[in-house]
Amino acid sequence: MKIALNGATTMHANLATDIEAASVAGYDLLEIWAPKLRAFLKANTLQDLKQLLWDNRIEPYSINSIEHVTFRNTDEYERIKLECSELTSIAGEIGCPHVVVVPGKLPPGKGKDDVVVESVRVLDELGKIAAKNGVSLAFEFLGQTDCSVQTLELASEIVNAVGSENIGLVLDTFHFYAGNSTLESIQEIDPKKLFIFHINDAENLEREQLTDANRLYPGKGILPLKEIIVALKNIGYDWMVSVEIFRPEYWEMNAFEVARKARDATIEVLNLKTGSAGQ
Ligand code: ZN
Repeated sequence: MKIALNGATTMHANLATDIEAASVAGYDLLEIWAPKLRAFLKANTLQDLKQLLWDNRIEPYSINSIEHVTFRNTDEYERIKLECSELTSIAGEIGCPHVVVVPGKLPPGKGKDDVVVESVRVLDELGKIAAKNGVSLAFEFLGQTDCSVQTLELASEIVNAVGSENIGLVLDTFHFYAGNSTLESIQEIDPKKLFIFHINDAENLEREQLTDANRLYPGKGILPLKEIIVALKNIGYDWMVSVEIFRPEYWEMNAFEVARKARDATIEVLNLKTGSAGQ
């Protein structure tokens, strides 16, 4: 399994530092944080970025993320389409296969059927923009109660309904737990549709109280990581895992140290999988 560093884990470091920290810590892949990308490109070219990645032997795996793509008003949605065009064009140029897209909040009075219709419409349209650049979109459900798509089951239903090769899923262990996704729902997904696996842990709080800031290094909290990893292995998913932790306490620390600790913790948790799946 290839291991990625997600730029959110080292939020206060810039893109060049993320690339170097990932390289020094021994990662294979980087999920590029979009605001850091834009800051980098103010003073550098895409060719500089490709060179930096190459020199550090880091492959770009995704750009994170286009936020709240669904339930936008007309003007906002036009901007979402422009952002999709901008980020997938950059991704295509640097050989980065995915851009992450995140569903919007559930508007009052809307139900599940409305969510499916809206999400399928938007993903279909954005997917066509991404396809022009040879890039795929990875749809990331959020476990928080105000999100329109809170579970793996619903996200998978939407992605299947779109039915495009370049539209797939993100499974984030924090959102999987916070939104009450079931281990059984992992068995239902086509592993090829799972483009990205975000790993992290969380403090021991009630689901409703959990926020992104409560994320921890894998293995340091209460999320059922071992069970999720075994379920993924059982469906044949084995290509990548990305450490994504939005913890302000870690942001204050040295990015090289955080990257190293995050990778070590991930490897330790992945090894648990071998022990448990070995029976
Ligand atoms: Zn995530």
